[in-house]
Amino acid sequence: MTPSRNHTLFDQARAVIPGGVNSPVRAFGKVGGTPPFIESASGATLRDADGREYLDFVGSWGPMLLGHAHPAVIGAVVEAAQRGTSFGAPTEREVGLARRVVEMVPSIEKVRFVNSGTEATMSALRVARAATGRSGMLKYRGGYHGHADAFLVEAGSGAATLGVPDSPGVTPGTAADTRTAEYNDLDDTRRLLDDGRVACVFVEPVAGNMGCVPPAPGFLEGLRELCDATGTLLVFDEVMTGFRVAPGGAQERFGVRPDLTTLGKIVGGGLPVGAFGGRTDLMDLVAPAGPVYQAGTLSGNPLASAAGNAALAFIAEHPELYTHLEALGGQLDDGIARIRGTHGYPLTWNRVGSMASLFLTEGPVTDWPSASAGEAERFTRFFHGMLAEGIYLAPSPYEAWFLSLAHTESHMDRLLTALERTLATVFGASA
Ligand SMILES: *Cc1c(COP(=O)(O)O)cnc(C)c1O
Repeated sequence: MTPSRNHTLFDQARAVIPGGVNSPVRAFGKVGGTPPFIESASGATLRDADGREYLDFVGSWGPMLLGHAHPAVIGAVVEAAQRGTSFGAPTEREVGLARRVVEMVPSIEKVRFVNSGTEATMSALRVARAATGRSGMLKYRGGYHGHADAFLVEAGSGAATLGVPDSPGVTPGTAADTRTAEYNDLDDTRRLLDDGRVACVFVEPVAGNMGCVPPAPGFLEGLRELCDATGTLLVFDEVMTGFRVAPGGAQERFGVRPDLTTLGKIVGGGLPVGAFGGRTDLMDLVAPAGPVYQAGTLSGNPLASAAGNAALAFIAEHPELYTHLEALGGQLDDGIARIRGTHGYPLTWNRVGSMASLFLTEGPVTDWPSASAGEAERFTRFFHGMLAEGIYLAPSPYEAWFLSLAHTESHMDRLLTALERTLATVFGASA
C-alpha cells in the first residue's frame, strides 16, 4: 500500500506552518484526522493529493458561487497576468469593478477595495468611529467579522470551533469597546445602544458563521430603526451574503439599507479581494478624500480585479443563476424533510438561498445558544461519515454549506443519499 500523500504533506506542513495550515479550521482540529490536501478543483469537484475526488459544499468557504475554475474567471485572470501582476497604480479594471459593485449593491455609492474580509471590516469600523466620534461597537454572539482585534469577542466560526472566543493578544482595552448582543434579539440590542456611545452595529444580515441562521422577521428592520433613533451607524457585514443570497446581497433580499457594507469572498471571484462601501458622505471620509487613513500595496490588484470583474459580470448577466440555486435548495429542503419525517431524527435545516446548515438538534436554531446546542461527538461522526461518502463539508458545525452554479440535481440526490446513510449510523439505524 502506498503511503498517503495527504499524511506526508500534513506532517511536512506542521513542521513549518503553525498547525500545518494558514487558517485554523482547515486543520480538522474539531473533528480529528488528516485534512485532504487539494491538488485541483473543477466545477463542484475537488481532487486531493491521494487522487480522491469529493463533491464540494465548502466552496472555499463562500467565494465559489460559480463553481471551481469557471472558464470566464480563469480566462480573465490568465489574460490579466500576461500584462503584469501588480503596478501599485490605478487601473481601468478597478473602476469597472467599483462600478459593478455600486450598480449591484443597493446602499453602496462609493467603495474601496482591500485584500480580505478582515481588512474590509476593520476599515469600515474605523470609518464608523470617525463619522460618529464614538468608540463603542456592537456585534452579535456567534457573529464573525474577520480576525481584527475589536471583533474577536464572542466570535463564531473558527474561534468558536477552537473554543477560544476571546483570543490572547487582544487587549482588555480593545475588548472593552466591543459589546455583544444575542442575534435576533432587538430588546438586547436596544439595551446596549441606549447610552449613545456605540459608533456602529456590525451584523451578518444572514448569520453564516454559527452555521446558517436567518434573520427573524422584522429583525433587520428593527435594527435600522434602533440605529436611526440612537445615531448609530448600521453596518451589514455581507462578506458571505454579498452576491450570494441575491445579486445585491441580503440588503436587496430583505429590503433594508445599511449605512456601510463590507464585502469579500464572491467579490474577488476566488482571488483575495475585500471591499467596504456605503453612502458618499461616509466614504468620502476615507483618505485621500478625507482624514481616515486606509491603504494597501496590493489593493485593487490586477489579477484580483480581473477575477472579481469576471465573476460579477457573469452574475449580472445571468440572473437565472439564482433560480437554479433556489431549485437546488428546494430539492434539499424536500429531501431533508422526508428523511426527518421517515426516521424521526432530531434535525434542523436552515437555508437562505444557496447558504444552508443542517444542525443535529431539534431546534429551532435562531441564535448562538441554540446553534451551539449540538453534541460535538455527534457532529464528528457525521462529518467523517459524509467524507467517507465523498462529500466534502466544512469540518465544523459552525459553518454554512454552499451551493454553486456547478451543482446539479443529481449532485443533490447524491448528497441526500449520503445524508440518509450517514445519519443512520450517527443516530442508530432505528431511531
Ligand atoms: C469570511 C468572513 C469574514 C472574513 O473574511 P476574510 O477574507 O476571511 O478575512 C468577515 N465577515 C464574514 C461575515 C465572513 O463570512
